[in-house]
Amino acid sequence: MRADFPGLAGGWHYLDSAATAQKPQAVIDACTAALGRDYATVHRGVYARSAEMTLAFEAARGKVAGLIGAPANELIFTRGATEAINLVAYSYPAKGRVLLSVLEHHSNIVPWQLAGWQVDVCPLTADGRIDLDAAEAMLTAEHTMVSLAHVSNVLGSILDVPRAAALAHRVGAKLLLDGCQAVARLPVDVVALGCDFYAFSAHKLYGPTGIGALWGRAELLDAMPPWQGGGAMIDRVTFERTTYAAAPQRFEAGTPAIVEAIGFGAAANYVQAIGLAEIHVHEAALVAQLRGELRKRNDITLFGPEESAGIVSFAMDGVHPHDLGTILDEEGVAIRAGHHCAQPLMDHLGVPATARASFGLYSEASDIAALMAGIERTRRIFG
Ligand code: PMP
Repeated sequence: MRADFPGLAGGWHYLDSAATAQKPQAVIDACTAALGRDYATVHRGVYARSAEMTLAFEAARGKVAGLIGAPANELIFTRGATEAINLVAYSYPAKGRVLLSVLEHHSNIVPWQLAGWQVDVCPLTADGRIDLDAAEAMLTAEHTMVSLAHVSNVLGSILDVPRAAALAHRVGAKLLLDGCQAVARLPVDVVALGCDFYAFSAHKLYGPTGIGALWGRAELLDAMPPWQGGGAMIDRVTFERTTYAAAPQRFEAGTPAIVEAIGFGAAANYVQAIGLAEIHVHEAALVAQLRGELRKRNDITLFGPEESAGIVSFAMDGVHPHDLGTILDEEGVAIRAGHHCAQPLMDHLGVPATARASFGLYSEASDIAALMAGIERTRRIFG
């Protein structure tokens, strides 16, 4: 499969797929055709090329929705997971208290703060999972939303979604899942999971940047007012009174990211053809292998649970993660070093930053071997 990914040419050991995934040729080709020989606007044109582009754009919506088991009319294209969460934070009509967790990405914290929600924070278990026993004790009838990462971008911890949904629904709250890391690593069926909203980005799913999606139950989307105005989201405009299109168009003001949507659809097809269950098993095996290798050393602290979806965070005694990352880069190994947009989690772990290795469907044992060799070289440099 590595041959499908031109970004991996030259034997680069890319261990930063949680930040963004490399793109398969199928996605690049879909984008190239959409930007080139097939290019035209969508939804407005009366000429054949535009009508075809509209069909392709809407077909992409169907493919992306299908990936998470949703109907196309419940899937809104956004700029990414960040915009998807902002959309709900601003537009959900019953703004009240939201329950988040310590491990959330900033994009699942700051929108709620900005939009004026009262934020409560669920703690973690000792091994770095969202503590749903604590959530159960914290949730009250004042909570109208629970918004949690399906998979942590730092620890790889996987949320027990059916239980989280049951807890939220018991107090009358809705459950939004930040699915940014999950959707590329686990089979996701939003109906079976029982959540109410699902947010994710194409670029972590082997698709283009600049586009993502929000899924929401039709009855919830129908009750939400638009949050950005412009073309394409209206029914009728006068200076006296404007009425709006139905969802999902009501939430897609302006010319959409046409090329990116088509690439997003191609990415959904690509991962579906391989199978997310297979991808998960592959990445889980790599996680087990890497954690085992790291545990053999006495200078490494491992964070997060054993069962993690493709992501391993760790610290090396006496070496700042940035220094480790820089030395590894000289060896052709790319890891992430930093706070991973999860500063409250860093505070909780008591570290300013972690080193993070994250896998994709193209990762393999040689990536781990190169990482371990780089860690050993770093040890020799730092003594
Ligand atoms: N949530 C999680 C768990 C993430 O990993 C990320 C990306 N690092 C985001 C949200 C934000 O995604 P984007 O920047 O693509 O909107």
